[in-house]
Amino acid sequence: MKLTFLGTSHGDPAPDRFCSAILLECGTAGYLFDCGAPVTSLLVRRGFDFSRLSHIFISHMHLDHWGDLLFLLKHKAKHQQDIHCFLPEEQAEKAVHDLLCLAYPPAKNAPVFYNTVSEGVIFKDSNLEIRAVATKHFKRSFAYLICGENKKILYTGDLKADISDFPVHAAQEADLCISELTHAACSCFEEKLQSLPLKQMIFTHIGPRYEKEGVLTLPELPFPVTAAYDGMEYSV
Ligand SMILES: [Zn+2]
Ligand SMILES: [Zn+2]
Repeated sequence: MKLTFLGTSHGDPAPDRFCSAILLECGTAGYLFDCGAPVTSLLVRRGFDFSRLSHIFISHMHLDHWGDLLFLLKHKAKHQQDIHCFLPEEQAEKAVHDLLCLAYPPAKNAPVFYNTVSEGVIFKDSNLEIRAVATKHFKRSFAYLICGENKKILYTGDLKADISDFPVHAAQEADLCISELTHAACSCFEEKLQSLPLKQMIFTHIGPRYEKEGVLTLPELPFPVTAAYDGMEYSV
């Protein structure tokens, strides 16, 4: 499995970071986790073949996590390519689809499908199984445990400021954890994650308090820790 961190910023775009979006490639298929702007343009720039992307998983409805969704859906609709969109709130399905059809009326007849995320296994195909774990960052927000090729990746999405909702049980199964790093202090991670058997931690969604004048401060943990940057690729 290959991960590409397309956007690694916190709630706003930063001078050298776009908003949250991670592409996971497994076999010939691509899956998108969060859809911050300008992910559609970034994928075009990378020469990505959009016919390989048929599933998008949104962690929560804060705009930095889905701001480019309409553009991406329009791009897929225009080419009549199937796209399944997993949204954390039921009301988001109608709102997103109404706006999409307002902006691009042919989308009414395009193969755009919506699913509302709830806890448990939400998706399974020949490559991946994805389990959603509720967090308390927003009224409905989810972490995703992604299982494929005998590896498990936990993507936390955003968390509460004290990370009391960090999905510890899912992290105990994971080889790699991708966590946000905006809302909590280093000390919270250092206390909470100390005994996890992780092989790698990648922080993304990097908040300004962690990155001053290009210098990053990361939590000190007993396993390898790194910070993602826009365009970073990582093989699991
Ligand atoms: Zn966010
Ligand atoms: Zn958020």
